Amino acid sequence: MLELKKICKSYITGNFKQHALKDFSLKFRKNEFVAILGPSGSGKTTLLNIIGGLDRYDSGDLIINGKSTKKFNDTTWDAYRNNSVGFIFQSYNLIPHITILENVEMSLTLSGVSNAEKREKALSVLEKVGLQDHINKKPNQLSGGQMQRVAIARALVNDPDLILADEPTGALDTKTSIQIMELIKEISKNKLVIMVTHNKELAESYATRIVELRDGELVNDTNPIKNEEKIKEDYNIKKTSMSFWTALKLSFNNIKTKKGRTILTAFASSIGIIGIALILSLSNGFDIEIDKFEKDTLSNLPIIISSQAVSMDENMMGQLTENFEKNENSYTDKKIIYPKQKLQDTISHTNIFTKEYIDYIENIDPELISGIAYQRSTSINIISKKEDVYSPLTLNYTDFFSIPKTLSESNNTGVVKENFDLLYGKYPSNKSELLLVLDTKNRISSTILEQLGLDSTKETINFEEISNINLKLILNNEYYIKYGNYYTVNTNFKELYENNNAIELKVVGIVRAKEESERIYGNVSGLFYSNELLDFIIDSNKDSEIVKSQEKANYNILTGEAFNETNTKDLTLGYLGADTVPVVINVYPKDFNAKDKITNYLDEYNKNKEENDKIIYNDLGQMISSMSGSIMDAITMVLIAFSSISLVVSVIMIGIITYISVLERIKEIGILRALGARKKDISRVFNAETFIIGTISGLIGIIIARLLVFPTNSIIYNATDLPNVAKLNPVHALILILISVTLTVIGGSIPAKMASKKDPVIALRTE
Ligand code: ADP
Ligand code: MG
Repeated sequence: MLELKKICKSYITGNFKQHALKDFSLKFRKNEFVAILGPSGSGKTTLLNIIGGLDRYDSGDLIINGKSTKKFNDTTWDAYRNNSVGFIFQSYNLIPHITILENVEMSLTLSGVSNAEKREKALSVLEKVGLQDHINKKPNQLSGGQMQRVAIARALVNDPDLILADEPTGALDTKTSIQIMELIKEISKNKLVIMVTHNKELAESYATRIVELRDGELVNDTNPIKNEEKIKEDYNIKKTSMSFWTALKLSFNNIKTKKGRTILTAFASSIGIIGIALILSLSNGFDIEIDKFEKDTLSNLPIIISSQAVSMDENMMGQLTENFEKNENSYTDKKIIYPKQKLQDTISHTNIFTKEYIDYIENIDPELISGIAYQRSTSINIISKKEDVYSPLTLNYTDFFSIPKTLSESNNTGVVKENFDLLYGKYPSNKSELLLVLDTKNRISSTILEQLGLDSTKETINFEEISNINLKLILNNEYYIKYGNYYTVNTNFKELYENNNAIELKVVGIVRAKEESERIYGNVSGLFYSNELLDFIIDSNKDSEIVKSQEKANYNILTGEAFNETNTKDLTLGYLGADTVPVVINVYPKDFNAKDKITNYLDEYNKNKEENDKIIYNDLGQMISSMSGSIMDAITMVLIAFSSISLVVSVIMIGIITYISVLERIKEIGILRALGARKKDISRVFNAETFIIGTISGLIGIIIARLLVFPTNSIIYNATDLPNVAKLNPVHALILILISVTLTVIGGSIPAKMASKKDPVIALRTE
């Protein structure tokens, strides 16, 4: 049934090659008790290891049941060791942290035998070796002889065909040795037993055949097999596998033997988890607090419906960045203007407040609002003349601006002089002089150019052409005429222009933002007018008929101040002229829920409307809260990133700890491998260990973080009067435990892999 054919095996250490077996050939019978004798170092253990499939031969062949083992793969060898071979070692090689019963059960556990069957078989072999009373003891509670009996029971439990014993009595006294030999002899009645021994007398009195080795060669065989002898061949190898549960149990028992270290390790690696859990509880709590605060306060901020609403989209961002990208036209010295498509036309939405819309706004459920405010502004009425055509300028605030008052120095052009280069002409010297402003690429909106009477269809326009611009300012008293009860714009622009009261405006110079002011003013283009002009217009309009009638209706059209008044009955929209149409409508919600209802109501208006007819609003409270929300998120992310560093440290630490554990458990690895455990099973044992540590560490982390929430909250309470801010979300807790488990398993995976690759022979030789 078993035959060695010209087996060679050598070990290389450094430059030295040790031949442990040289062309070794030997045949065994199915049932015999073979003793192998030989001096130390003659190759006896090597021989046993090769027969048992623990070690691989270099050349030759090992025939098992007539089959060559040359093509055996790892799994087949593992299965062979598990089902067909029982090992007995001189140093017993029991796993110290599990019971006698569990030690004996191990090889059955590996081959996936059911619990009941396992127990029954293990108990029966333990009874056979006379240890039925000691099954729940740990190996170190037994004597040497008893331990060797356990080893014998373990070797027998799978009922293998082959028992390999390497100096089983080497560590025992004579009396105990004899008892063990009796036991082995009993076994050999229906098995092949191959036993290495130093003791010639024992060999002679118990073995049926003695084989002698010297320097890796056979020197004597007392009962060699004749060729005519027939050998029966029956054999089948069942694959082994360790369940994760077994691995877990094994590791759990191991961990129990080093509780202190495990707890310390778990605690150290839980620190990252504690940090993150605390940060999450805090940010979670503050989010809730901010939410409450926002509901209370921000909901009172108005919903703003502005006549020029900006729709924020990528189109706008693209245009804005395009404007700042430098190209060959940036800061050109050429005295020319490039007409450009107005940015505003593409990004902003003009809300047209029709009478119908104002009615719609006025119909908002009064229960929902604390008020509606209408902001109005005065307009500067300008008429331009090009040849015989007279037309009003409809420039608005994005391209027609006063020089910022607060920024100006003693004279109005201070800001301009500081930030802009004068490219052409001169600075204004009185209120009726204007400046044309170009962007950094000498561009200006073609709409503006056209309204100023310049030809915007041309590719470029020379600076000198600004002298062709003819503009006149018309005051409200002239611009609007009474028509019955209402006011309307006087559309006879020629008459208005020629009127003696019209004030001539002159574009006297061209400016462009300086390079150092590009960030602020680089994108500005249009017309600058002086503050004196604005003051003059406001002053003149004060006495006008139209303003007086406005005041009666209780609306301030000059300053654009808001009134918290819902009563708009007197509003006669569209008839009083441009001034009276609101520029901005502010709707003040009563509370947070009301705001939602109002925005829903406003959205309702836009349903089935053409794009142009839609009314776009801005929800200021919403904007602020989403901003504060994202700030909170950013802070949380940064803090978590910091805490994560300690998680990385834990991963490394777990790697080291697992590595130490691997070193400590090398012997166990060897034993398990000898019993038929696969490489996979070994790494599973260590992964199970890190899994347990990871779970403990996650739990410790969460428990400590939960406890730290109390002092944290009392600190916050003292500082802010907010009670119970920090709250640990159970979902976060669960996720953090999972993270802890995952990270520790990752950290331990490399040492676990290393453990699985350990050579079982070397592992067994380690003490
Ligand atoms: P025995 O069991 O008869 O005392 P071994 O089979 O253990 O002898 O060893 C045979 C020879 O092989 C010895 O010279 C030993 O030093 C050498 N040897 C065994 N295992 C190794 C190993 N893993 N590495 C290097 N040399 C080894
Ligand atoms: Mg030996």
